[in-house]
Amino acid sequence: MTLSTTASQVLFDRAREVTPGGVNSPVRAFRGVGGVPRFIDSARGPWLTDVDGNRYVDLICSWGPMILGHAHPDVLASVTDAAAKGFSFGTPSENEVALAAEIVERVEPLEQVRLVSSGTEATMSALRLARGATGRSVVVKFAGCYHGHVDALLAQAGSGVATFALPDSAGVPASAAGETVVLPYNDLGAVEELFAVRGEEIAAVITEASPGNMGVVPPAPGFTEALRRITSAHGALLISDEVMTGFRCSRSGWYGLETGAEGAHPGGYPSGAPDLFTFGKVMGGGFPAAAFGGRADLMARLAPDGPVYQAGTLSGNPVATAAGLATLRACTDELYPRLLETARTIADAASDALSAEGVAHTVQWAGSMFSIFFRDEPVRSFADAQAQDTSAYGRFFHAMLEGGVHLPPSAFEAWFVSGALDAEALDVIRAALPAAAQAAAA
Ligand code: PLP
Repeated sequence: MTLSTTASQVLFDRAREVTPGGVNSPVRAFRGVGGVPRFIDSARGPWLTDVDGNRYVDLICSWGPMILGHAHPDVLASVTDAAAKGFSFGTPSENEVALAAEIVERVEPLEQVRLVSSGTEATMSALRLARGATGRSVVVKFAGCYHGHVDALLAQAGSGVATFALPDSAGVPASAAGETVVLPYNDLGAVEELFAVRGEEIAAVITEASPGNMGVVPPAPGFTEALRRITSAHGALLISDEVMTGFRCSRSGWYGLETGAEGAHPGGYPSGAPDLFTFGKVMGGGFPAAAFGGRADLMARLAPDGPVYQAGTLSGNPVATAAGLATLRACTDELYPRLLETARTIADAASDALSAEGVAHTVQWAGSMFSIFFRDEPVRSFADAQAQDTSAYGRFFHAMLEGGVHLPPSAFEAWFVSGALDAEALDVIRAALPAAAQAAAA
């Protein structure tokens, strides 16, 4: 160990006295890889600087939102201007309209969105709307897909829950979990079988547009299209969770890639778009802003127009919407090919280093999001992802950290790149890789 982590250790010890596990979101505690989480003092462009003064290239990007890098000048200026005009009004304001319009313009099937403050709220509200609209209660999700910590969706979720090997969370009543059916991802036969028996009870199927919370596991060709066909045939809704992929995989998100409009995964939705979409992360630019949306007739079921209640004191917050709007406006057509090229450079360098040490691995992609699984077979499901060598990932992670690169502290996550990654940052990544690959092989 060469980097000093004394100040992080002191803060972590203090944090554990006043906060459960010392963190405000479980995966930050490093339980998946061991060791002391770095307490970050500041961040600029592609760099994180911790409280001991160590600098890291950031490949977490706040778990997705920081697509432009940290403290991007346009976003900083918008946030500063907005904050100078007041922090929260509790009345409608112009930025809310502009952000909703920007999202509706980007994602072709959307007619309306409602703004909320987190991805969890977005999926929870979309689910309530689906149940309210169909008058049915059963929800189908896929193992390894994480949709936030909504009671009904915490069954076999990926992300932090995967790190802790928890099948479900304590505190979720059997009645809530009992209305949720969990199926293996990419298993069309399982979906068909379930709908043949219980099709009339199912309100909605919710799926990550392209899962990133068990690591990156894109839908097999035809899977999304089949979900659309089967749900439509049984009067159930299809909810596409684009909290992670929205505005990151392409200008619109995974939807843009699957429709072929913006990329390489055509054929996803020939028989119609999902009924509802959820968004978060990038659209908040690092602030708490998220959304759910769909056709106007469906969204009209929400209060105040309709009977499905949904609300929020800070929903559409003027500072958060200013950050989101400035971020989306800087996510231009030029950005996405550049992100992809940067991601390919990093993934190729990592793959070469691992191959040189004979470490079994597979790289999987969704736009510029990618994961390196420490196994040599393709990963199509949560069970496949769990079969990887997580201890090899832990050794790799710590050697990268020593080399000045902060990867996600779990083998079940996507690596996120930002538009701020420059030649210096890429050089630091390349320099750290050989020792990390050796550590993984050890
Ligand atoms: N849906 C997906 C696909 C996510 O990746 C996440 C968070 O990682 C969520 C929902 C929940 O979002 P939040 O953490 O903002 O509540």
